[in-house]
Amino acid sequence: MKKYQLMAPGPTPVPAEVLLAMAQPMIHHRTPEYEALFIEVRAGLKKLFQTGAEVLPLACSGTGAMEAAVINTLSAGDTVAVVRAGKFGDRWVEISKAYGLDVIELSADFGHSVPAERVAATLKAHPRVKAVLTQHSESSTGVLHDVRGYAAVTRDHDTILIVDAVSSLGIADLPMDAWGVDLVVAGSQKGLMLPPGVAFCALGEKAWTKTRTSTLPKYYFNLAEEMRCVVKNEAHFTPAVSIIIGLREVLRMLGREGIANVFKRHDRLARATRAGVEALGLELFAKATPSPALTAVVAPKGVDSEKIVKAYAQAHNITIAGGQGEMKGKVFRLGHMGYAAEFDVIIALAALEQVLADLGQPVDFGASVRAAQKIFAEKS
Ligand SMILES: *Cc1c(COP(=O)(O)O)cnc(C)c1O
Repeated sequence: MKKYQLMAPGPTPVPAEVLLAMAQPMIHHRTPEYEALFIEVRAGLKKLFQTGAEVLPLACSGTGAMEAAVINTLSAGDTVAVVRAGKFGDRWVEISKAYGLDVIELSADFGHSVPAERVAATLKAHPRVKAVLTQHSESSTGVLHDVRGYAAVTRDHDTILIVDAVSSLGIADLPMDAWGVDLVVAGSQKGLMLPPGVAFCALGEKAWTKTRTSTLPKYYFNLAEEMRCVVKNEAHFTPAVSIIIGLREVLRMLGREGIANVFKRHDRLARATRAGVEALGLELFAKATPSPALTAVVAPKGVDSEKIVKAYAQAHNITIAGGQGEMKGKVFRLGHMGYAAEFDVIIALAALEQVLADLGQPVDFGASVRAAQKIFAEKS
């Protein structure tokens, strides 16, 4: 028997209390029970998103909410600027082009980020840019983009800032209202420790203003219709009832830990993972601020990173992730978000040592674990 460990950067493990909550017999969504559930979830989501705005849950994966963000705030022929420094940045470009938008790509080499000054210069040169789209945590490279800096720029323009926070909500601090982020997109299967199937859009006032003139076609993802229902504690279409029940449990758990502690925990896990990986002489893929959600690691010279991923799975029954797109074969990614704690990091690192040794790499056994434990021993 090899105990299964899910250590990919999403989907992430679901805590037992959440699984049990979701295992209840189905309830109908047009009942007082669902209404009571939704009232609690609605309030908890606002706290988690650090906003006074309503958070709209949608029954789809994270990409559905990305698409919803675009089609509800923009019109055909609009120009948008996209921070493109990874596969998820590519996704913003692809969605925008699919809907006939003109895209200005603010590209950086993968592993790097785009400074806020470049966003400022772009808005100055192209005052007609209607929206700036970015990731917060770019999960393909393990980089955290400067959303606070971008928001400081877009605040003073007639431009909205749309942030994909799918792998940062409940992981890295993103105070939507305080920073002035106009639209935040998130998903259930990363920091929220839930099964995939629910995604969220939270729109501030400026984003809602844009929805009134948006002409892109929409039916299932009509956020004004969603909003009309949410304020009445109702669902527009059949919601993912079981996941919303799980979400109530998750919001209670995060509330008990305290959101500031949740961010601190992720920061510690990420620092320990990075220290462990570097203690083995491996290179981090992120050259800019690293994401606290996951660590992308460059495979040792001459080793295909897919082999590392495979060895984790076959020899140890641990799922990690490889590189996406042009990073395939070069990078492997360790997730440490959501239901993740100190000894999960120890498992991932100890297994990494075994895997590298099995692949014929020289390994100083215990070096990565020791480096991580030193971080955990620090008083926070
Ligand atoms: C996981 C993820 C998504 C959403 O992907 P789905 O497969 O559609 O859920 C979007 N953006 C980022 C940064 C992600 O990590």
